[in-house]
Amino acid sequence: MTLDLNANLYAALRAAFPADLDGIAVETDEGLFYTWRDLERASAMMAHLFAALGVPPGARILAQVDKSVEAMMLYLAALRGGYVFVPLNNAYQRAELEYFIADAEPAVVVCTRANAGWIEPMVGAVSASTGWPAPHLFTLDADRSGSLLEQAAQCSDEHAVVMRTADDWASIIYTSGTTGRSKGAMLTHGNLLDNARVLKDYWGWRSPEQGGDVLIHALPIFHVHGLFVAIHGALLNGSKMIWLARFDPRTVIARMPEATVFMGVPTLYVRMLAESTLERAATGTMRLFISGSAPLLLETFETWRERTGHTILERYGMSETIMLSSNPYDRAQGERRGGTVGFALPGVQLRVRDKQGRDCAVGEIGDIQVCGPSVFAGYWRMPEKTREAFTADGYFKTGDVGQIDALGYLTIVGRSKDLIISGGLNVYPAEVEGDINALDGVAESAVVGVPHADFGEVGVAIVVAQRGVALDGEAILSTLRQRLAHFKVPKRCFIVTELPRNTMGKVQKALLREQHKDLFWSL
Ligand code: AMP
Repeated sequence: MTLDLNANLYAALRAAFPADLDGIAVETDEGLFYTWRDLERASAMMAHLFAALGVPPGARILAQVDKSVEAMMLYLAALRGGYVFVPLNNAYQRAELEYFIADAEPAVVVCTRANAGWIEPMVGAVSASTGWPAPHLFTLDADRSGSLLEQAAQCSDEHAVVMRTADDWASIIYTSGTTGRSKGAMLTHGNLLDNARVLKDYWGWRSPEQGGDVLIHALPIFHVHGLFVAIHGALLNGSKMIWLARFDPRTVIARMPEATVFMGVPTLYVRMLAESTLERAATGTMRLFISGSAPLLLETFETWRERTGHTILERYGMSETIMLSSNPYDRAQGERRGGTVGFALPGVQLRVRDKQGRDCAVGEIGDIQVCGPSVFAGYWRMPEKTREAFTADGYFKTGDVGQIDALGYLTIVGRSKDLIISGGLNVYPAEVEGDINALDGVAESAVVGVPHADFGEVGVAIVVAQRGVALDGEAILSTLRQRLAHFKVPKRCFIVTELPRNTMGKVQKALLREQHKDLFWSL
């Protein structure tokens, strides 16, 4: 039994690099090439820089930067140095950043040059008011400039990966909470590595002897999908990434002949389907298309199959748990079923419970609860919220509502907070949206609950028409009345040109509720 086994995630990723470190690890949309040695050296130099400044392992490194390979190297440096990486969405503005900096108490802050002018004094003011040492501030830009790289260039490129146990924190991911304060989900080296290993196996990542894999990376890297699932997937398999600073449907399609794996949120698939260049010939070398982070419409799933011959594999996960369930890769385990998120991944215990805490019967809708090696260590400095998030027997309450069919396929019906309770009866928005989406001329829809004097809450439908189609909201509602119990039928229907979405493709239902909150209720 070796006692000195280092559970640092970087050690496992590094061990998977190909023997030839001069091979290409990352190729960018700007035509730049990075070798495996570049990843190893740059991360070593940055880790040295932080250590030389006296930043102790366990300290937080907070980054709000544009997507770049150097930003990924910063993440790898944080891992290998034993720091806790805190990536932030670039969309966050001053007041939000102030909250994150005060909450995370980082020892290092990395931002873009454009933001440094206001972030530096703000960081100083926050640390002065809270009494902790002011963090070191560095800049890093997508054009590969900035003080971080300049200073790291002075440091040694020999670095011994810092010892970590599987329970040490590797990252804090702030949830995109729409209500209340955003919570920092603490993920350990063990959480991340276990999930990456399970996915490597489950999604059949190919070894070099089997022809290898090449991933098109087109997702943001401040979120679990792009930062963990995509990057760990490629690195743990020693696979090259084609790295796009931002998603562009034409570029992705044009690069597909050099690639085998693509990961996207549903909106990316919708946008690629709008391109005439998306056809079978373009996707011929591709092995796997994965979708997640938001529900993939059945229509997108089916149209993609018709146009490309590929069946998108939909999976489900969240910041607090990383990946939980997936449609099968291996056909022998079952077909990939559109509208479902597949089976619980190996090692994940997933159950659906009713309000009384009993297991739901097959097909019955209830709260999704999970337990397993990828479930997070709790919310950063929020012991009360952490306690509330778990059941007495240690399952994490995901906040998602769903059902499991007789074969074990899980279907997500929505977030529990999006559930509509109308006249005391539960209305599941996803069911009503499914019926609306099936109507001729409808591209997509969202159903949200708004306050109502008699019923407590009623549904309001917001519908997007297919291009060139004129829809009538009243006609939609009268058709629905023939198909659904009346309490499920929305009371109003608005036709809009698009649904509000965040960068991960999630429909912003809180925003829609806010917009329509006074329809039946005004004080
Ligand atoms: P985040 O923590 O930002 O990754 O958001 C996680 C949430 O996204 C989950 O709790 C689900 O509500 C939703 N989600 C993720 N994947 C899927 C999916 N394949 N289908 C439906 N919802 C999903």
